[in-house]
Amino acid sequence: MSIFEKDLFGKSKHGAALARIRNFCNGKRVLVAFSGGKDSQCCYHLCKEAGISFTAQYSITRFEPPELLRFIRANYPDVIFRRAFSKTLVDEIAASGLPTRWARWCCEAKHKATPGFDIAVIGVRAEESPRRAANWRAFGFKPDHSAYVCPLIDWTTADVWEYLSFVGAKHCGLYDPPCSFGRIGCVCCPLVPRNMKQDALQWPKTAAMLKMGAAKFVERMRRQGFRTARGKQCATWCNAANPIEELWTRWIETGQVQQSIAEFRAWERGQLGKDEPCLFAGTGFSEADGAEGEA
Ligand code: SF4
Repeated sequence: MSIFEKDLFGKSKHGAALARIRNFCNGKRVLVAFSGGKDSQCCYHLCKEAGISFTAQYSITRFEPPELLRFIRANYPDVIFRRAFSKTLVDEIAASGLPTRWARWCCEAKHKATPGFDIAVIGVRAEESPRRAANWRAFGFKPDHSAYVCPLIDWTTADVWEYLSFVGAKHCGLYDPPCSFGRIGCVCCPLVPRNMKQDALQWPKTAAMLKMGAAKFVERMRRQGFRTARGKQCATWCNAANPIEELWTRWIETGQVQQSIAEFRAWERGQLGKDEPCLFAGTGFSEADGAEGEA
């Protein structure tokens, strides 16, 4: 069924999405959380169509694929790029360590609310996962109490592509062959460990930047006797003959550094189906999205 087709009550998905935006955003200071992905593109064009004034913002971490950043710059010049953190990514990793599936400081920085707005328009769709279906509504409040509206909450992937085709919007080439991504995420995201090694091959400059940060982190810890500022002993990677390689290999294989790869695999076997991805991953709020051009 087309998003423009009306049901028995004379309502269409397209009309409902526009109504959500108009009802919740009119007269408000509106932020469109723009990720460059197809869902946030829909939000952007729906807000234009709804006739509301808004600011579209991309939160950059330097984990993002350079193709995505180039696409946004070329096609959405009015999108504002906000740095998720003030240091370079290398220095951020040197200070905090590599982000892991349990300590994703990059996501936290990316999703941090921007002051000065009353409401954020977010491209979350319930179809994407049971967790999103359970946690997100057409309108609600995030854990930091800021308001959001999800105009596409009941849209399918086909609906999204139908609307982008209707408005004549281009899309990022990562959706097309040879990549054919269903969803565009961060490079080497620890929330998706199975993709990390392949990502490192596909974006070697980003991987080199991440490894450089890891090396700086290890050297900093070495100077501190492999103890954190709070006096906590580093995990067993620090006992390896080459701590940098051990830390990096654990991370790129498993998205974590606390356990050896063998220990982690054993733990993982007992967790099947329990681990859930970040609520924001890929929403445009994720900030999952690092720096310019494979720099
Ligand atoms: S989605 Fe991006 S920002 Fe979030 S944890 Fe993954 S790499 Fe970090």
